[in-house]
Formats: sequence, structure tokens, C-alpha cells
Amino acid sequence: MIPPETIATIKERTDIVALIGESVKLSRSGRSFKGLCPFHKEKSGSFYVHPDRGFYHCFGCGESGSAIDFVMKQNGLDFREAAVLLAERAGVTIEETREKRPERTGPTKDDVYGVNNIAAAFFEHELGLARTGPKGNPLARHALAELKKRGMPSLSDESDEARQWQNTLAAFRVGYAPAEWDGLASYLKRQGVSAEVAERAGLLVPRSNGSGHYDRFRHRLMFAVMDTLGRVVAFSGRALAAPSADELGPNAPSYDGPEPPAKYLNSPESPVYTKGHQLFGLYQAKRAMRERGEAILVEGNFDVVSLHAAGFEHTVAPLGTAFTIDQAKLLKRFVPRVVIAFDGDGAGAKATRASRGPCTEGGLEGRVAQMPKGLDPDELVRTQGRAALANLVKNARGMLEHLINDALDGDAFAASTLSEQNARVRAVAKLISDENEPTLRLMAKSYADRLSSQLVQQGRAPEDLSQLERLIGQAVSGKDREAPAPREAQRTLPAAEAAIVGALFDFPSLLDDRRVENGLGLLQGESALAVVALRQHVRAHSQKVDPEVLLASLPRSIHSFAAQRLASPRFEADSSARTHLLENLEKLEATSRKREVAAAVMTLEKGSGTLPFDAQAEILRELAAKRKRTFDE
Ligand SMILES: [Zn+2]
Repeated sequence: MIPPETIATIKERTDIVALIGESVKLSRSGRSFKGLCPFHKEKSGSFYVHPDRGFYHCFGCGESGSAIDFVMKQNGLDFREAAVLLAERAGVTIEETREKRPERTGPTKDDVYGVNNIAAAFFEHELGLARTGPKGNPLARHALAELKKRGMPSLSDESDEARQWQNTLAAFRVGYAPAEWDGLASYLKRQGVSAEVAERAGLLVPRSNGSGHYDRFRHRLMFAVMDTLGRVVAFSGRALAAPSADELGPNAPSYDGPEPPAKYLNSPESPVYTKGHQLFGLYQAKRAMRERGEAILVEGNFDVVSLHAAGFEHTVAPLGTAFTIDQAKLLKRFVPRVVIAFDGDGAGAKATRASRGPCTEGGLEGRVAQMPKGLDPDELVRTQGRAALANLVKNARGMLEHLINDALDGDAFAASTLSEQNARVRAVAKLISDENEPTLRLMAKSYADRLSSQLVQQGRAPEDLSQLERLIGQAVSGKDREAPAPREAQRTLPAAEAAIVGALFDFPSLLDDRRVENGLGLLQGESALAVVALRQHVRAHSQKVDPEVLLASLPRSIHSFAAQRLASPRFEADSSARTHLLENLEKLEATSRKREVAAAVMTLEKGSGTLPFDAQAEILRELAAKRKRTFDE
């Protein structure tokens, strides 16, 4: 722990105006200094720095704090890192209390940063992009060819685009690792760097026979991975087309042969690099991310570099791993929102789904820019222009909305098997129940409802999609979060219809009663289907009821009602069942007559004055007939 007195000394000795002045243009304003706020977008300065108080404050966005806070915020560092950085700057020695680290021999973090920096310079030199100075390694032409494939203009080109590429490649310290087994190893030796340090950094690998080291990265296009302060913490090397035997020649006979090497090779973990803790391009993207208030997350290193060159300088990538919670938290230090722009293929869709958790855990708002099928963002820009990507990013969907849309996608859904469709529906219910924010959950629910009813209306999904509503209902109410496999939604029949169908289940013989038979035409929907099924059943089973067989022929939505009624009939005598049934048929008749009369009256009212007299008279005659007609003869 850094003692409080030391913290106070660091603050005292730091000239906050000079510190902030390095990145913000400040001018005197009364007793303070004033400039454009680095933490929010503004045109007139509302960012004030008070030299005597060692304090800054923005009237626009409310950011404020000490020099340490500024360095933390500006560089995405934690308190300790920021304090150490300022201490070095101000020449303050930090004597940390307790937890004195055990005496460790072996390379320190600083040693590793040092060797990484030397290696990055070596790789840059080998690529030979610098406009002046010696040309690079002859085999670097394979690396240049790969860069050209990704849209890099000719080096002699004087266009803005070419300059932008030059700047980007320099900012990313892109380089070339030579094909020899000991290209870097012998260079480091000449520089007096110990092989032990280079091994700790993951640059050299000890030979199995114990005689020295060889280069981990050979014949690769090299990307330097930097932390938020621009220190090189690792490398990522892209495989290149194999050089020919002629090219390799006597000077480089040891390139490791015909086996196709892994497309990307990343540094192993080291004292300064933990897998899943860094984002490729973050250092270079920091400023643009702050200005735009969001970051674009893409899959590959090349996407990052070429998008930066194309002006999307707020782009980063997760460096060969799935997007992790640590990476989300790191990003959150700079921006509140990330737009995920993974490749438009199955793997990209899967990686997008997998990034929801880290976004939620990291407190980052995730949005999704869906790439066209088969394209990655880099290809999109090269084939359809910058505007195409800018548009997708601007119209990016909320993460939850995207995932629901993905699961209930019309074509994919219709093409799935029934069990796949069920899995999709369950996935949607789970997505919604996993959302902790009630407003978002409700919005997601209504969105899912809308999509599912569209599917049913378009005839692309079974009507059973009603189960979705039920599952989501359960999910939203927070009950039954681990829902069992969905069963059919059970509907309740309207009371009169339930009474009629129930009486018939009790005494199927009533189907042959003349008055009953005349009235059954009033039934609709499931109750009508149930009566048809019952009639066929008793005919086929010589007037007896076999409940299991009958149930199998009934609409599934009334299984529960039918099973109860078949198991425990309500009436003892068929005469009382008949009376009850006829009463309810009368009720149904009355209801439907009322509806017809109301419709006729409405037609008359609407048409009065315009309908010819004859037509009005016709409607009235029909009305009178309806009033008289009953199912009773
Ligand atoms: Zn501000």
C-alpha cells in the first residue's frame, strides 16, 4: 500500500496544469485554466483546471478530481498504477508499507516491457515500412502482400488514404518476424538482452536439447499488443504465405517447413500479459472512443488495423479469445457502450451471443451491428465503402433485441425442426428471464410477442407458439425460472360451452337427442371440434367411451378439461344432464341472436336515409325471423 503521506507528496509535486496541458490545450481564465473537456464532446470550453488546488472540474459533464484521478480516467488505470506513474514523473520514491514482495530473482515487469519494446522495434525494422532508412528483410514482401490484400495502398502513394495507412501501421507498430530460427534471438544477443528475459516475455523458446533458444515468431506479420499506456505487453503474429526454397536460400535454411502454421500465434502469458485482460487496439482507440462515447468491437486484429486506417479509430478486438468480463470492464473505463461487429457467419453469431454475459457483468451497454452474411467489417468497408459500416453501427440493435430477433428469425425458424424451434423458444424465454432490468425485460417481452405472432400469421410456425407467451409470462413473473419442457397451453372454454360439452361427455347418448342435435350448430372452435370427435368416437366404439382414445382425438388445448370431466362426471342422471345442456344452449342462442340483432340494427342506423326503403324492409323482416327462430321446433 502507498502511504497517504506519499500520495500527498505526489499531488503536491505534480503540476496539474502542465500534466493536463499535455493532452488538453489550456488557456488562462482568471485564477484557473480553461480548455475543451477531454471527457465529453464539446465545442466551447467548460473544463477548468485550478493550479493551486490541484483540481479539475468540467461544468459540462461534471467530471472532476485530482491529478491522480485525471491520470486514472485518461489512461484507464487503477489508483495505484496512476499514483506510481505520477510518482515517477515527479521524482517521488514510493516506499510501500507491509506486503513487501519476497526477494525475487529473475526478470521484473520492467525487464519484460523493455525486451518487448526492443523486439517491436526489430520487427518494425524488418518490415521496412519506414520511408527513409534501410529497406527491410527481403521476405517481408509476403507481409506487405498481406497488408495490400487488406487494402493498404502502395507505399509510394501520396494520397491521404496512403498517409492514413502509414500512420496507422506506425501507431500499431506493425512489423515482420523473419523466417530464421534465430533472427530475433541473435539480434537480442547483440543488444545485450538476456535470453532469460526474452524467454519470460515469450519471445524466445528454449531448445529441447538445452542448447540455447529459438524464435517463437517466425515468418509472421507482427502486431504489437499494448496496454493503456502504450507499453508493449505481447505480440500477435499472423501466418503468411510460405516462402519458396529459393527465397529462403542459404541464409535462412531453417524456416519450419510445409506444415500449415496456426493462422494467429499470440504471446504466452507473462508478468505483463494475461490472456483475456487486454484489448487489441485499445491504446490507439482511447481518444476516438472517448470522443464518440462508444467503441466498436470486431473479431480480428486485421479488422482493427484496417478499420483504424479507414477512420473508425474507436475499434478494438478481444485478441484471440471470446470477449471476457475483464475486457468488458477495461472498456467500461473509457466508454459506456460497445457496438459488437463480429463476422457475418455462424461463429460470429455465436461469439455475439457469448458476449452478452460479459457486457452485463462489466456494466457495458452492448449493441449489435449485424454484418451482412459472409462478410467481416473489414470486407464490408472495402467492398461497400465506409458509409455501409457507419450505417450498421449507427443502427445497431440493443443486445437483447438482437438475440431475440436472431432466435425468432423468420427464415431460420421456419427451416428448423420442431425440437429446434422449441429450443429457440426456450432460449428466448431464458434471455428474457435473465434480464434483470424490469423495463428492458418488459420491452423484450413485447418484442418477442410481436415476432412470434408474426411467425404464426405468416404460417411459418405452429400455433403452439402460444407456449412462448406462457413461458415468457413465467419468466417475467420470476416464477419457475427453470421451466420444464413446455406443455400445451390449456384454454378455458366459455362457461356455456363447457357446460354443454361436459354434459355430452357425461352422457354421449344425448348426441342423438333431436333438440340437442339442433342446437349444437351454435358451438364454435374447440367445443365444436370436441363434439365432432366425441360423435365419431362413440360411433366407432359402440356408444362407449374409451377415455385415452377419445382424449387423443380431442383438441389438445382442452385435454385438461376433458380428462377431468371424463374422470369425474358431474351428472348422475341423463335427464338432469339434458336439462342443464338445453339451458346452456338457450343461453348460447340468446347471445348469438343478440349479436345478430345488434349488427342488423347498426346496419339500419348507418343506412337510414341512404338505404333504399326495400332494403330496410328486408333487414327488418330478417330481424323478425331471427327473433322467432329457435332450435326448438
Ligand atoms: Zn466534460
